[in-house]
Amino acid sequence: MEKEPGASKTNYLRISVTDRCNLRCRYCTYWRDWRKLPSVEILRYEELLRLAAIAAEMGISKVRITGGEPLVRRGLVEFLGKLHHVPGINKVCLTTNGVLLRELAPALYDTGLRHLNISLDTLRRERYRQITGRDNLAEVLAGLERAASLGFHPLKINCVVLKGINDEEVLDLAMLAQDHPYQVRFIELMPTVSQEWWQRHFQPLSEVRRRLTVLGPLMPSTREATAGPARNFRVPGFRGELGFISPMSGHHCRTCNRLRLTADGKLRPCLLAASELDLKGPMRLGLGDDLLGYLFQEAVELKAGKARFSLVHSHQPGRSMVSIGG
Ligand code: SAM
Repeated sequence: MEKEPGASKTNYLRISVTDRCNLRCRYCTYWRDWRKLPSVEILRYEELLRLAAIAAEMGISKVRITGGEPLVRRGLVEFLGKLHHVPGINKVCLTTNGVLLRELAPALYDTGLRHLNISLDTLRRERYRQITGRDNLAEVLAGLERAASLGFHPLKINCVVLKGINDEEVLDLAMLAQDHPYQVRFIELMPTVSQEWWQRHFQPLSEVRRRLTVLGPLMPSTREATAGPARNFRVPGFRGELGFISPMSGHHCRTCNRLRLTADGKLRPCLLAASELDLKGPMRLGLGDDLLGYLFQEAVELKAGKARFSLVHSHQPGRSMVSIGG
């Protein structure tokens, strides 16, 4: 299928290593209906390493490990060490809620990992508890500090902006990038829980940017080839940067360069559309690397061609975020 002119190359794979999480974020999943996957359904580390190697053959050069919460899965540190040695994968990143980071940061650093995203929507303890259902803000801040002191870089802070909950705090969150080389990224809420909750709390990032005009002019910074849909900006006098990710109000498809592999082995060309290709079933039935490679190719083509516009217009992920990996 013809690649749309100007569209990003699909070179980035997000791998969800678990559907388990130690937080219960209000916007992520409708937790009352959530049923954890039986362990046997979750891809084993050796299966993940095999799929990563096949993905690399198909042009994937960047992998992000996500979840659920990846740090709750046993053996993750050893797995990351091995992932760094998969030929063709030249960038390995991790997204975490940071709760277990203070103790695990040194071991993670020793695997060679440097790219870390930490999810943090508020700096206020009670609000943190309201959003995540847990009283872990102090642990997350300690984890962030430890990661920074070890030298993780880039260190990105992901903040989902929620109207009426944390939107009046965006300036405080942005200020984290003043004295630290962090990239603070604001993200629009996606409707993964309920339409009604989304409508009540969705805040377009245009409004966030308006609130941040007091910081001075935002100057666009250069984009890497694997950067994806974030728009990044330097701010006068700041050591770090600000970023904006607008999956709802911005036109995302053209710059989206990623595939997603769910913890139970489904390959998704698009976060916001329900289509997925099963890799686990064929792999466990004995399909060879070349045929699994075709499945990756199919997902890349679905994404690259015009088909992706019909994919995305549904805006129905068909799964909760904890099982896709965000
Ligand atoms: N547990 C890890 C964490 O918290 O970073 C990784 C998984 S989490 C699903 C990945 C990212 O998805 C987090 O930054 C989270 O804030 C984001 N996310 C979850 N639900 C979302 C939603 N409805 N809209 C926007 N972002 C969402």
